[in-house]
Amino acid sequence: MTREEFSDAVELPVDTMAALERAAGSHRHEVLFSNRAFHIKQSAVRDVFDISVQPGLISLAGGSPYLRSLPLEELGRTAQRILAEHGLEALQYGGGQGMDELRRQACEVMAAEGILDADPADIVITTGSQSAQDVAAKVFCNPGDVILCEDPTYVGALNAFEAYEVDVRTVPMDGDGLIPEALEERIRQLRAEGKTIKLLYTIPSFNNPSGVTLTADRRRAVVEICRRNNILVLEDNPYGLLRFDGEPLAPMRAGNPQDVLYLGSFSKIFAPGVRLGWALIPRHLYRRFYLACEAVVLCPSPLTQMLVSAYLRDYDWMGHVRSSRTLYAGRCSAMLAALADQMPEGVTWTRPEGGFFIWVTLPEGVDTYPLLYKAIEAGTVFIPGAAFRPGEGSSNKLRLAFSAVSAEDIAEGVRRLAPILRAAVDA
Ligand code: PMP
Repeated sequence: MTREEFSDAVELPVDTMAALERAAGSHRHEVLFSNRAFHIKQSAVRDVFDISVQPGLISLAGGSPYLRSLPLEELGRTAQRILAEHGLEALQYGGGQGMDELRRQACEVMAAEGILDADPADIVITTGSQSAQDVAAKVFCNPGDVILCEDPTYVGALNAFEAYEVDVRTVPMDGDGLIPEALEERIRQLRAEGKTIKLLYTIPSFNNPSGVTLTADRRRAVVEICRRNNILVLEDNPYGLLRFDGEPLAPMRAGNPQDVLYLGSFSKIFAPGVRLGWALIPRHLYRRFYLACEAVVLCPSPLTQMLVSAYLRDYDWMGHVRSSRTLYAGRCSAMLAALADQMPEGVTWTRPEGGFFIWVTLPEGVDTYPLLYKAIEAGTVFIPGAAFRPGEGSSNKLRLAFSAVSAEDIAEGVRRLAPILRAAVDA
C-alpha cells in the first residue's frame, strides 16, 4: 500500500513515522487506531536504552539514578515486615489520592526545597512524574491547544503531550534558563495565530537534557508572565534536591500556590522502580486532576507507597540525597574534565550545578543523529539532540548523562566519542 492509498483508506494523518511503518505491513485493524495513536512516538531514549545493555558498551545515554548506595538488605526486611504486618492493606486497592502518610511526607520533601505551605490535601500520589504529565495534557488540552516548553525539553513529556495532539511549541533558553522576553514574544506570536495556550511545562532545575537552571529572578518573571496570560505553569522538578553545592533554589511553586502545578518524584531521591511521584495541585484544579489520575490507575500501588513511606520514616533519606549529590558531583566533574581534555575546537557544553546531564553543542549544520551509529561502533552511546524538541528535524546537539557511569567509564566513553565528533566537525 502506498502512503497516499493508506491515507485515503484510513483518513488519518500520515506524516508520522508510525503511519509509514504501519502502511508497510498494514492489517485491516489499522483503521481502528485513533488519530491520537499515530502521535505516540517511540522514545529515542528507550531505543538507545535497549542498545545500551550490549556488553562492553559504555552508555552515556540513560539518565538512571545510582542505586547501589541504598540499604538494600534493610529495605528487604522492611518489605517483609510490611507484608507480614500490613499485607492485606498493602496488596489491596487503596485510595485514589494515595496514602495520607506518604502525602504528608511528600510535603516534608518539598519543604527541604523551600515549598513551606504545601497541604497534603492538595496532593495526589502519581505513578511517577511521567503519569502526571500525561494527566496534565489530558485534563487541560484539546487537540491543537498549545503547551509551551523549553528548547530543549524532556523527551518523555513531549511524548506524553503529543499523544493528546497537543501543539507543543518551544521557548529558547540560554545559560540562565528560559528567556522571559522570548516567552512573552512567543505568547504574542501564538495568540496572533489564534492559538490557545494552556500550559508552560518547565524543568527549572537542572533541565533534562541541558543541565541548565532557571535563575531565581527569572523564576519570578516567568510565573508573572504566565499569571498575566492565564497560562498554568507545570513545574517538573525531579532533580531539584540534587544540587551539587549550596542550598537548592526555591521552586517556582514556592509562594505561588495558585499559578503552579508542581510535579515531584521519588525516582531520583529514592528509586524509579517504585514508580511513585506526586502532584501538588492548585486547590481550584484539584478535583478534576485527581479524578483523571484515578481513572487511569484507580490507585497508586499501596505496596510501593508503604515501602517509600517506611524508607522516608525509618532511614536517613536526606543523608542518602547528600551522598548521592557528592557522587553525581564527582561524576559531573569527571565528565567536564574529559570533555575539556578530549573535545575538538568548535564543540561547547554546559556546566550543570546539579542533576544528571551535560548538553553538548557541535557547530551549526552538524546533525548528531548519524553520529550515534558511529558511536555505537566505537562502543559508546549518547542521545541525539533532536529527541528533545517537538516534531521532526535535525539537531547539532547531544545529551550526555553522567549519573549512571563510573568516573573511569566516563573518561573512556568520552575518549571513544571524541574522534567521531572531531571527524564531524572537520567534515
Ligand atoms: N521529568 C523529567 C524531567 C525526567 O527527567 C524524568 C525521568 N528521566 C521524569 C520526569 C520521569 O520521572 P518519573 O520516574 O517520576 O516518572
